[in-house]
Amino acid sequence: MNSSTQVLVIGGGPAGSTAATLLAREGFDVTLVERDVFPRYHIGESLLPSCLEILELTGAREKIEAHGFQRKGGGYFAWGKDSWVLDFAPLRYPYSFQVVRSEFDHLLLEHAKSQGVKVFEGTEIRSLVFDGDRPRSATWLQVVGGSDTGEISFDYLVDASGRAGVIAMHYLKNRRYHNAFQNVAIWGYWTGTGRMSFAPEGAIANGAVPDGWLWGIPLHDGTMSVGLVLHKTTFKEQRQQFDSLEQIYLNAIDSCPLIADLVKSGKLLTSIRTEQDYSYIAGSLTGPGYFLVGDAACFIDPLLSTGVHLATHSAMLCAASIASALRGEVTAQQARGFFEQSYRQTYLRLMAIVAGMYQQYDGKESYFWQAQQLTHHDYDDSNAMMEAWLYVVSGMEDVKDREKPRRDWQVARPIGADAQPIAVPDRAVLLYNLFETVFFGTAMSPARGSMSGSAMHEPIAILCPVVSGRRR
Ligand SMILES: Cc1cc2nc3c(=O)[nH]c(=O)nc-3n(C[C@H](O)[C@H](O)[C@H](O)COP(=O)(O)OP(=O)(O)OC[C@H]3O[C@@H](n4cnc5c(N)ncnc54)[C@H](O)[C@@H]3O)c2cc1C
Repeated sequence: MNSSTQVLVIGGGPAGSTAATLLAREGFDVTLVERDVFPRYHIGESLLPSCLEILELTGAREKIEAHGFQRKGGGYFAWGKDSWVLDFAPLRYPYSFQVVRSEFDHLLLEHAKSQGVKVFEGTEIRSLVFDGDRPRSATWLQVVGGSDTGEISFDYLVDASGRAGVIAMHYLKNRRYHNAFQNVAIWGYWTGTGRMSFAPEGAIANGAVPDGWLWGIPLHDGTMSVGLVLHKTTFKEQRQQFDSLEQIYLNAIDSCPLIADLVKSGKLLTSIRTEQDYSYIAGSLTGPGYFLVGDAACFIDPLLSTGVHLATHSAMLCAASIASALRGEVTAQQARGFFEQSYRQTYLRLMAIVAGMYQQYDGKESYFWQAQQLTHHDYDDSNAMMEAWLYVVSGMEDVKDREKPRRDWQVARPIGADAQPIAVPDRAVLLYNLFETVFFGTAMSPARGSMSGSAMHEPIAILCPVVSGRRR
């Protein structure tokens, strides 16, 4: 490996490969280090339409389209007292994909290589060397096919290490887990399952069960990913009641007519996998010379399949921030402020929607109304409110934020002595403080700078070709 690079990316999942690709396409020297050798297994198969927007930006869309993944036209929810169809048809990209992640992630990483990223697989970042608060270099160890070791210095670090969370878990130790989402997921893969004739092609099925819910995701290899999410307390109770994880899982499927019907003529092909405690956010998403993207920064319960959206969207925001800072279009502090605010806004809006849906008996009108409160549009009838929900849960509301920053933020001149402070709309501040308070019991401190109305809010989105889709 080289001994220095402009940008070091830790992790080659969707977040790492997206950030690395965008920066390499902007002409920067990017090195990506990935512990595993791809293809490797990963959970997280159902994508949102917003991902197609990012695939366009990275130039990987054609490769993903050509691979033959199952197209996903939407979803079907059998939730509390209601059931309804989520249809992506009105969106700019009226579909997304249900992907086998080992194949999807591999394609993205190979694409990163083709765009000039120096990729080292089977190599682990072991430690970071700091100069004050700023990481300056990293030590690495080859863990597959050899045992070479070395050190690499960098100008910027992108932590895309997923749940391992190199910076948040090992250095800042500031990852906070959500009490409300102390859930356990149990899943496996089926063959010979049915399809939903009443939902768009390739739709994800989401069915509620007492204290939890199930997903059904049809994949292009003919299998279906079927998973159960239960609150930890219920899971512990059921551990006493049932002999095995598989029995808990099969019992839940039996109690959910939507999923039971899909698998009734199918066969469970694989052993059961499980994960727990997976909703969290780091105390800060960026610091001097570094950015946390994807699961390394935060994760929301998988109910709305937002993981890869958050990973690729944050990677795009991060690439824009680093590119603009390295080119001197904005200061490093402005870049960080932009990233922290944009990413948190995206995260908190989706978190609010997911939290609302866990109130299973509130009903769909309540979820749609809530979505409308969290968008920038005024909708006056119930159909339009459903549209608000569609835009939020497809990730497209976040894409719109990035495209229309002028509408909500009074834009100052980007740099120079005559730059004016940016006014953050009251509504955004209120929402931000509300959700910070609800989820973490701490009001957003102006001292942290993210919503303080300072010049840190320069919308890099306007300035940076990575975000606007323009190439230099
Ligand atoms: C039960 C469950 C269901 C889910 N379902 C969905 C879904 O349907 N749709 C969806 O969009 N998302 C889903 N997700 C979320 C999704 O899996 C993640 O959000 C997504 O994979 C995040 O991508 P990432 O690139 O941030 O991290 P990852 O994909 O985890 O990639 C991180 C990479 O970093 C590497 N790494 C870690 N440490 C080091 C190190 N020290 N040195 C070098 N490399 C390192 C790892 O090997 C890994 O390859 C689900 C999650 C769970 C738990």
